[in-house]
Amino acid sequence: MDFGSQTLERFEDALKHWNLSLDEVQRERFQKLTNLMLDWNERISLTTITDPELIAIEHYLDSVAPLAFKLISEEMAVIDVGTGAGFPGLPLAILCPQTSFTLVDATRKKVKYLQMVCSELGLTNVDVIWGRAEELAKRREFRESFDVALARAFGAIDIVWECTLPFVKVGGIAITYKGPKVDDELEIGKQTAPLVGGKVEFVHKFVLPTSDFRRALVIARKLSNTPLRFPRSVGIPEKRPLRLVIAPSELVRKGKR
Ligand code: SAH
Repeated sequence: MDFGSQTLERFEDALKHWNLSLDEVQRERFQKLTNLMLDWNERISLTTITDPELIAIEHYLDSVAPLAFKLISEEMAVIDVGTGAGFPGLPLAILCPQTSFTLVDATRKKVKYLQMVCSELGLTNVDVIWGRAEELAKRREFRESFDVALARAFGAIDIVWECTLPFVKVGGIAITYKGPKVDDELEIGKQTAPLVGGKVEFVHKFVLPTSDFRRALVIARKLSNTPLRFPRSVGIPEKRPLRLVIAPSELVRKGKR
């Protein structure tokens, strides 16, 4: 049995628990994706997960979790910030052919790989862009242009908000993928989202079906335009995360009391 079909079987079995299924074209695409990823992984580092059944759960199923909660629908424009080897954007794009996806990453060779994958898979609803979120979010064609922004394994929650919410239209949402320790970050997430126009609206906590991996999706709704000074220059969201932008004023308040 080749890796592609092993992964596919495991993935389809788990998808049933979310009442999701694949058609023949989607099956073929996932199979090709697995084989291309594992093949290219020997030359450029794409994933540390190489076991076909774990790819099915930790990459594919995890990526499409927003569909279990009906967070993405047809005709939406979705951006995946720091997509790496294409997660969560690629599996979602395969499952939602009527939704348009923009996959962004700062690493050129990953972008080249993703462009090759999209052409091999015949995915016409995906654009792959090489660049830094901090710079792309300032460009007119990207700023406040998406219904949904996604980020998985991108960083601490306040870094995620600064690098995703500027892309989101007022009324849209940013979704960040988190693990079992989500509560440790939630307070920071709630306090910092308003700086960039957002409000933490909901946290979906769940176990990935057929596994014991605990996951969470944190949803921030865009309530107002992001002030133009955000995102700050490349590297600053990480070096001086929004929680530190808030903290000094708290210190001042405390000092005054
Ligand atoms: N989302 C993927 C990859 C996570 S690793 C997954 O869940 O598997 C984080 C990725 O974000 C890396 O590929 C890195 O190149 C990219 N990245 C880091 N900082 C970035 C930035 N400021 N703008 C765009 N991409 C960035």
